[in-house]
Amino acid sequence: MPSAPRVRFAPSPTGYLHIGGARTALMNYLQARRQGGTFILRIEDTDQGRSTPESVQAILDGLNWLGLEWDEGPGKEGPYAPYFQMQRLNTYREHADRLIAEGKAYRCYCTREELDAQRQAAEKTGGAFKYPGTCRELKGPPAGKRAEDAVIRFKMPSGEGTVSFDDKALGKIAKPYSDLDDWVMLRADGIPLYNFGCVIDDHLMDITLVARGQEHVNSTFPQLMLYMALGWQPPDFAHLPLILGPDREKLSKRKHPEADVMLHKRSGIMPEALLNFVIRLGWSHGNDEVISREQMLQWFDFSDVGTTSGVWNPEKLLWLNQQW
Ligand code: GLU
Repeated sequence: MPSAPRVRFAPSPTGYLHIGGARTALMNYLQARRQGGTFILRIEDTDQGRSTPESVQAILDGLNWLGLEWDEGPGKEGPYAPYFQMQRLNTYREHADRLIAEGKAYRCYCTREELDAQRQAAEKTGGAFKYPGTCRELKGPPAGKRAEDAVIRFKMPSGEGTVSFDDKALGKIAKPYSDLDDWVMLRADGIPLYNFGCVIDDHLMDITLVARGQEHVNSTFPQLMLYMALGWQPPDFAHLPLILGPDREKLSKRKHPEADVMLHKRSGIMPEALLNFVIRLGWSHGNDEVISREQMLQWFDFSDVGTTSGVWNPEKLLWLNQQW
């Protein structure tokens, strides 16, 4: 008997709630609700230059308006606050220290200038930059440097190998180890990079299925390497197809005002109509046009999420709005 799913929505609070984010949240929410599972909200606020309290509020307002409530948080009782990664820095530091002690990560003292010069050299020859492992075998800080100022890098296992997974939407995908490098897990100030914070949290929060936008599919490979290094069982993954704007370009905050969920609230769209519209961006099930939340709960499954992009269709949204 498979255990009830534990899923999460993990937005970075760097702007309003995007339609793509609303779709990710909705699909995760449905998966949890229909199988007696748990839906977690985790705010990935580690990009200190871009994260703002206003964006956190905008995300919460968007989820509340759509009625996508979450079930858990750092407190003991609801209504729950979300998890915030910036409140979990000790946890990331502990795991990074453990990986260093086990020889699976190391401190790197290379300066930004050194790395930039290497990157530019690689680009000149048309290649992608890969960290050359300069600090891999150091036993301690080089002269004039301090361990506290170093970043911590993951140590890719040497030798041939392939990392692969069976994505619920994309099918089986693989990458050779030689495409990956010793990526940075933790900055000197103790703030985790996305892949590191994400894996530590997904594991500690007992996430069974990670569903997120397709732009993260390549991150899954370094993340899987980390699960392996930590001896942890990875969750299942589903990478959701891109959403295109009416101009067939990727629906983006920069180009498409309609990407803002709350714009639709302001223009009189009902939350049910927006959910109905959003669930159809990449999910196919039957021919029904008008789908209630109850029907979504009955019917939704990640196995019916395809690889084809959903396209924004403003007339369809207006039409749906008249059906409610
Ligand atoms: N913080 C990432 C984002 O907002 C989340 C990616 C993930 O779900 O793993 O894009």
